[in-house]
Order: sequence, then structure tokens, then C-alpha cells
Amino acid sequence: MANRAGEADKHAEAEQGSHVPCFLCSQQLNQRTDKKHAKPYFICDACGMQIFVRGQQGIKNLAELVATLRQHDFPFREHAAVLFEIQALLTEIRGIKKELEKLDSIFEIFSTDEHRERTRKLLNQRIETLLERLERIADGDDTLQTR
Ligand SMILES: [Zn+2]
Repeated sequence: MANRAGEADKHAEAEQGSHVPCFLCSQQLNQRTDKKHAKPYFICDACGMQIFVRGQQGIKNLAELVATLRQHDFPFREHAAVLFEIQALLTEIRGIKKELEKLDSIFEIFSTDEHRERTRKLLNQRIETLLERLERIADGDDTLQTR
């Protein structure tokens, strides 16, 4: 019976580079994957908190959040509240994208194609504004007070 030194964690493996801040203490939490259910989860040792993400939408939202944090290298350790700002922005962007998808299926409520295009344009502009806001947060020159 072989007993290897430095034995790997039997219960979980950390996903490379995927992490979010703990919402209670801002400590960085590495994303782990539940082997049995293949669902992501996080453990904060300091807070004794375990966070399981089991729903499909939650898993998608998490992936989006992790990708956004990674892409922009947000200064979330200094400003834990920034996480909530980012979450709110991502949630709003998701909602607008759903609205845009709906435009194609319910266009009959618009009297003309012109109205539909105008609505589409406004929604896209709103997404642009939100993305710019994400960029500003990434640059660290945005504050919660400006909201
Ligand atoms: Zn914590």
C-alpha cells in the first residue's frame, strides 16, 4: 500500500486561478469542484463559511464573475464592496441581454421596425455604459458614491 507524501486533497481540487473574495472578510477564496456533483464551491477557513453553487444559472453567473474579475484584475482586496458593484453591473447586463433576445420574439408589440431598432439601440447603449463603468472600477477611479 503506497502512501505518497504531499497527498492531494481527496475531496476537492482547486480550479486553476478561479477565485472570488469572501463576502464577509474579503479573503481570496479558491474555487473548488465537488467531485461527486461536479459543482463549484468555496470554503473560507477564517469565517468557517462554505458556499455551494448548485444551480445552472448560478454556475453560469459565477463563471461570468470569475472571468470578469480575472480579465480586469479588479482591486477587490482593497475594496470588498467593489464586488457587489460588479455583481450588480453583471446582473443588469444579463437582464439587458435577455431583453435584447426578447426583442426578436415579441417584436409585434412594436408598431414599426423603427421602434424596435431604436429600442435595440438604447439597450445596446446601456450595455456600453455599464461596460465602461466596469472599466472605470477596474482602473480604481470609480467610487460607490457616484452611483
Ligand atoms: Zn471569510
